Parts: sequence; C-alpha cells; structure tokens
Amino acid sequence: MNNMEPEKITGPAGRIQDYLVFGEFGGVNPSIEDSSTFTFLSVEKMEELFEHEIEGCFLYSRHLNPTVYHLAKAMALLENTEDAQITASGMAAISCAILQICQTGDEIISSRTIYGGTYALLKNFLPKFGINTHFVNILDLDLIRSKINSNTKILYCETVSNPLLEVADIPALRQLADEFGLTLIVDNTFSPMIIQPYELGAHLIVHSLTKYINGSSDCVAGAVCGKHDFILGMKDVHSGSAMLLGPVLDSIRAASILKNLRTLHIRIKQHSRNALFFSENLEKLGFKVFYPGLSSHPQHEKILKFMNQDYGFGGMLTFDAGSAETANSLMIKMQDHLIGYFAVSLGFYKTLFSSPGHSTSSEIPEDEQIAMGMSPGLIRMSIGLDNDIARSFDRMKECLKEMDLI
Ligand code: PLP
Repeated sequence: MNNMEPEKITGPAGRIQDYLVFGEFGGVNPSIEDSSTFTFLSVEKMEELFEHEIEGCFLYSRHLNPTVYHLAKAMALLENTEDAQITASGMAAISCAILQICQTGDEIISSRTIYGGTYALLKNFLPKFGINTHFVNILDLDLIRSKINSNTKILYCETVSNPLLEVADIPALRQLADEFGLTLIVDNTFSPMIIQPYELGAHLIVHSLTKYINGSSDCVAGAVCGKHDFILGMKDVHSGSAMLLGPVLDSIRAASILKNLRTLHIRIKQHSRNALFFSENLEKLGFKVFYPGLSSHPQHEKILKFMNQDYGFGGMLTFDAGSAETANSLMIKMQDHLIGYFAVSLGFYKTLFSSPGHSTSSEIPEDEQIAMGMSPGLIRMSIGLDNDIARSFDRMKECLKEMDLI
C-alpha cells in the first residue's frame, strides 16, 4: 500500500468511514445544529412536513435534528439497515421499538437471559398496558414454537446475552418469525461490528450506545436500526412512539457519539484481544468462564459461523468466583489492585466489573436466575483497552492468590 492510498477497511467500519459529512465551513466533522426548532419560508412547506418527510428539511428536534440525523445514518451503516432512530437511552430504544409494534392484548416471547432493565420492562411494566411476555430459553426453538399464539407479535433476544453470553441463533429465529408473522428484535449492544443481526435475519436491531459505540462512559443513548418505513413510523407526528414519548438525544451529545463511533473498529479489536487473553488464562486456572471465544463455550462453533472474524469475540466475559461473598470481596480487591473499576456498564477503556445477580440482573428474581444458569458467584467483566493485558492478568493472579482461590 503506498502512503497516498487510504487503508481499505471492509464491512461496517468501512461503511461508516465512507460516510463523509462536513461542517458548514468544510470542517471535518459535521456542524452541531444547536436548535430545537427550524424556520420555514412558506406555510405550505411546514404543513407538508407535518404530513411526510422532506429530504433535508427539519421541523423540530424531537422529530429530527440534522446532527442527530448524521448519527442515525452512521448507525444504519453500522448495522447495514435502511435507517435508524436515535434515542436518549438504550432502554428508550427498546421500549419505543416494542410500543411501536404492540397494542393491548399482544404478547412477546423473549429470551430469559437479557439485561435486567429489559427484563423488568417486559415483566413488570408492559403488563400494565396489557402487553405480556413469555420468557424462554432462546436456544430451545421447540419451546418458543409452543409459546406462539395468535396474539404473539415479537420475538426478542440479545445477540450475545447478558450476562451469560449465550449466542442466539438469529437465522433460526427469523425462520420462526416468518412462519408466524412476528417481528424479530435483537439487542446487539454486546457485539457491534462483531455480529450484524440484520444480515442474519433480525427485523430490528436495538442498541445501548452508552456502551461500546460511544465507549467513553460519559453519556447514555440508544438506537433502533431497521427498515426506513418502520423508523419513519416511529417519528410520525400522530402515532410515532419516538415522537410522542419523546426520548430525544441532544445534538451536542449526538455529535460527540458520532466522533467516538469512528474508532469503534479499533476499540472492539483491542477489547476482544484482551478479553480472550483473560478468559483463556482464567480458564487455565480452573475457573468456569463464559466467553464465546473459548472452545468450551456451548455456542463457540455457532458464533464462528455468524461473526465478522476481524473483530474477535467481544470484550465481555463472565466467570464464577464460587459464592456471592467471595465474588464481592474479590471485586473490591480487584479494584484495589488497579485491574479496573467496580462499576456496572461496559465498553469503557478501563475494565469494569460487577456481580450480575446483585446489579445488572438484580431485577430477575433469584429462582429465575438459578433456572437460567446464573450462579451467585458470577462476576461479569467488561475488559478494557489495556495496552499490556498480561500485566493486568498478573494483578488478577495476585488478587486470586491473596484470597486463596489459586
Ligand atoms: N441492553 C443491554 C444489553 C444493556 O446491557 C443495557 C444496559 O446495561 C441496555 C440495553 C440499556 O441501555 P441504557 O442504559 O443505555 O438505557
């Protein structure tokens, strides 16, 4: 490659880098449209925009803002969908996608291993509106089939689930969805770039941009990626869930996330490399480790078929420290030994760890946690961008030794 030739990056990273948007004066980043409302030169134009979209024309920033539009375009390029809706949080993306589809009396079939907030939305909140959910082992297609009835509208899962890192069989779920006319919604928060659910058959992809996509743990945001008509429906001034519930992202934040998104491919590779190192070495020490990159992971072969291999198996791993007490003491020790921070969330440059049973999955009742294979000693780690991961692992070994765990 000579110096003048740009590096050829294929797949989602290439698509995002080929999306060229400039500022008002030719700046290399788009200008931030710091306005809630937009002027019109004719009454007719404003009336027309209330009825349908007009390319390049903006009405009000809860409906659409030019800067937020650029982030939506980039998200659509990441997931290879026609369009995307940006929201103020991952939960807003999930709830708006569901409420755009479901009415009172409708039912959802969801994986039981999902983020605790999503679980609580489906289990505790949506029933208030007559929308009920059956929670299933998402790998058991016969069980899913047995729960489908004429009220079922949505099949819901995470590509790589939280916190046990189960890998969903999206093509098989799509077949079921097609057979019964369901919408398959997939949360791809844990595996952006690595897996592209739309290519595998998902109808809608939801994201918490709070995590890897932004990557700097400085804000909360979300996205729904899918067909243009669906996204347009979400913005509809008369009936759109995003327009009417109003979880809008500010343009200044959208601009900042878009800048961070441009380095996602490099970050994901480093997160994956480091997480594989940690997983392999924890497993060698005799711990039960859940990481899709390990050949001991039940869906290891499956993820190999689905993934963009350039990006590795992701930055998340979960391991069993034994008991809740041991896990709690170990995490405080890990923080003291500068391995990372005892904190929920993921996708930060620093390693973050928490015990899912008492934090991100605490909304799931204990008996259901046990049924889904979540033992009380689990520690979920979002492995950081450490330059020298071997040094970090040496620190981990010191912690384990001090606690007589190795
Ligand atoms: N989906 C997954 C897989 C998550 O882990 C989270 C948050 O941890 C969410 C969705 C919700 O995202 P947010 O916190 O941006 O609302």
